[in-house]
Amino acid sequence: MLYEKERGIVLNACRQMVNDKLTVGSWGNISLRTHDNSIVITPSGTNYLKSTIDDMVVTDINGDIIEGNLKPSSEKLMHYEIYKNRNDVNAIVHTHSIYSSVLSVVDDNIPAITEDIAMLLGNNIKVSEYAITGSIELAKNVVKGLGKNNAAIMKNHGAVSVGNDMERSIVASEVLEKSAKIYIYSKIMGKINTIPDNDINKLRSISEDYLNQWKKWK
Ligand SMILES: [Zn+2]
Repeated sequence: MLYEKERGIVLNACRQMVNDKLTVGSWGNISLRTHDNSIVITPSGTNYLKSTIDDMVVTDINGDIIEGNLKPSSEKLMHYEIYKNRNDVNAIVHTHSIYSSVLSVVDDNIPAITEDIAMLLGNNIKVSEYAITGSIELAKNVVKGLGKNNAAIMKNHGAVSVGNDMERSIVASEVLEKSAKIYIYSKIMGKINTIPDNDINKLRSISEDYLNQWKKWK
């Protein structure tokens, strides 16, 4: 079996996504780029809690299957388009999480309201333009929405987070959903204060130290 370790990383991330209620059923999908630019991606329409590593699909970056018994995720084009446009990205987590989805419906960006957004996600997390699921238009819209950030909200759909490895992508996914919740509650309270622009850049530069330290202790 090719990429056994990478298949396991993707499957564990799927289980974490479901257990942390970032998605329900088979909605949401995850992929990992290997050292030689192959993609290990979740299959289409599968119960992640019952899946095994054999169910993960290995493709090239254009979507041709290298090894796999099942069809790759129907939202695979979005994954490939992100990898083609972001050399720094090796893992992608796409969820249909509740609070991010609320912002996707009302079409509201998340400014840098807390330090973890600035450190891990970027500045001003955008809502990407709508296009129907699985389309190349959606894939291109998400790339544009992400820009250099590590997360984006997908209009009338859900959320996507990216990172240099799966741990960073999953943490980004958790921070995005938490941030969406904080933003919505802050709006209900009626006042939004943001972090000054020059401090946002400083926070981004210390995030690597923070992540490396966190990985040591978990
Ligand atoms: Zn989706």
